[in-house]
Amino acid sequence: MNLILLGPPGAGKGTQAKRLEERFGIAQISTGDMLRAEVKSGSEIGLKAKAIMERGELVPDEVITAMLAARVSRPDCAKGFILDGFPRTAPQAEALDRMLAEKGLRLDHVIELKVDDGALVERIAGRFTCAQCGAGYHDTFKPTAKPGLCDSCGGTEFTRRADDKAETVAARLEAYHRQTAPLLPYYEAQGKLSGVDGMASMDEVARQIGAILSGKA
Ligand code: ADP
Ligand code: ADP
Ligand code: ZN
Repeated sequence: MNLILLGPPGAGKGTQAKRLEERFGIAQISTGDMLRAEVKSGSEIGLKAKAIMERGELVPDEVITAMLAARVSRPDCAKGFILDGFPRTAPQAEALDRMLAEKGLRLDHVIELKVDDGALVERIAGRFTCAQCGAGYHDTFKPTAKPGLCDSCGGTEFTRRADDKAETVAARLEAYHRQTAPLLPYYEAQGKLSGVDGMASMDEVARQIGAILSGKA
């Protein structure tokens, strides 16, 4: 099963992708996580991407599509994958279609997480992640069960993203509306698009996605 989760920054793509990964044994591919790893390692891609990401703009299509092509060829994608944060532009969507056709693969569903812009700012401002295992949390909506201790691994160090600050969020939302939202009609025309209410609780969003995947929505 090959899926795309589409939605603005903070919509809950990563949260839902992790749940789908556990439930179906398919790989979460987050181009944002991949880029942050490149920045951390100081690679050539990372050096190019760092300033662009800090401004809340999109990294060039050629860089991203090359990175993605290498990723979907890895063995953990054999049962399928969930694309989280890709594609974000029309050229990326077209490159993905070509890539899948070459591999004899098909896209099963594109799921749009619909969230109001106003709610996104609060979601992003409260977001933090376990530095050890990558589990995602939120100050208000998903705090750790015990303060300062990761529920999943017991880790005690957490990170917040450099681009998760109010000034950058506006630029990222703008990039979403201008460059990524036009992909919705593209996938609608392919008959692949379904929407879920991203304003609902995490469990309810997961339930709605499950219904789409089992053909009951
Ligand atoms: P969010 O989870 O908030 O939607 P991501 O972690 O997906 O954000 O992306 C963080 C940043 O990484 C983006 O603002 C952009 O600069 C860069 N990025 C991630 N994926 C892509 C992509 N497919 N194309 C271009 N830039 C990307
Ligand atoms: P994205 O990957 O789309 O940028 P995330 O999955 O990282 O979004 O979610 C952004 C923040 O909002 C995280 O802190 C997460 O815990 C929280 N969050 C995710 N889904 C919901 C939801 N349905 N209701 C409330 N908070 C949520
Ligand atoms: Zn952890």
